[in-house]
Amino acid sequence: MRTRLALARASTPGTNRPAGVSPPARAHPEVRRILHSSRSRIQRQTVPEPDTSSSHGHGNTTLPYREAVEALERDRLGPNPQPAAGKVCLTFDDGPQKGTEDCLNALAGTVPATFFLTGKNMASDPTEQKRLVERILSEGHQIGNHTYTHDPQADAEYRKTYGDLSDPKKLAQFEDNFNKNEAYFRKLLGASSPIFSLARLPGDGRFVTIGGKLVYVKQTEAMGMAHVGWDFEFGTSYISKKTKKEVPSFPHLKHLPWQGIDGVSADHSGFPSAGNVVLLHDRHWNGKQAKLEAVIAKLKSTGFGFGKLDSSGKCA
Ligand SMILES: [Zn+2]
Repeated sequence: MRTRLALARASTPGTNRPAGVSPPARAHPEVRRILHSSRSRIQRQTVPEPDTSSSHGHGNTTLPYREAVEALERDRLGPNPQPAAGKVCLTFDDGPQKGTEDCLNALAGTVPATFFLTGKNMASDPTEQKRLVERILSEGHQIGNHTYTHDPQADAEYRKTYGDLSDPKKLAQFEDNFNKNEAYFRKLLGASSPIFSLARLPGDGRFVTIGGKLVYVKQTEAMGMAHVGWDFEFGTSYISKKTKKEVPSFPHLKHLPWQGIDGVSADHSGFPSAGNVVLLHDRHWNGKQAKLEAVIAKLKSTGFGFGKLDSSGKCA
């Protein structure tokens, strides 16, 4: 049985280092920095006693040292400082389009995701569009309705275009954008039954309230689709031609590099929480399959698994 040892109870004489947490002779500078900056916090950490009976070859000092450092890594992270093991659900918007292939390659048929499709974005190349959607489905991913045109997007455009949906013409226009997308992909895929049970309004749609009600989300659900928001967002970065500086793919993804991964940006510096729906955009990963693989690997190494959206749009 493993016992747990409070580091605060024992420290190596003459040092501020907890007993059993000796750094290797050539500790990585980042490791030294973490230990140096977190001495007060390390007193609160507990690490397992060295398991001398183990057969995995770690010595008495290396294993607890590594675990203590990993615990400190978790402790210093952003809004969710100690991410618990759990599932997150990856969702990709606006495809199929350039970048969809890279996303599918990174997911490798083993990490499930949901692709919210927008018919118009690749309507000029229906053959490629069909191939990509068929690949999405054949590799076990889900698809959702992201409207045919992707317009309107901004809050004011929504109000101007659809109002409060009490005008039958505007209501029909709202519903047509979903229905046209459904009909488009049904024709493309040769499907006779409805394709979409999940939907996501483009841009600000999920936030727009009129008279205190989320009118567009409610109407989407009244059409028989669960509306799926998101809790956490990833993107990439590019070098601005104007300033020559690295900027995130969307300005609000200002945490760059996210968790030290060059070229990856996010809206939070820390990790998602268990059960979070995570938003990405296919096009941001065009030619950047390795970046997405790095994000997936980082999440996995932190204890996350990957779930699917259930029929109510929750991450399960
Ligand atoms: Zn979108």
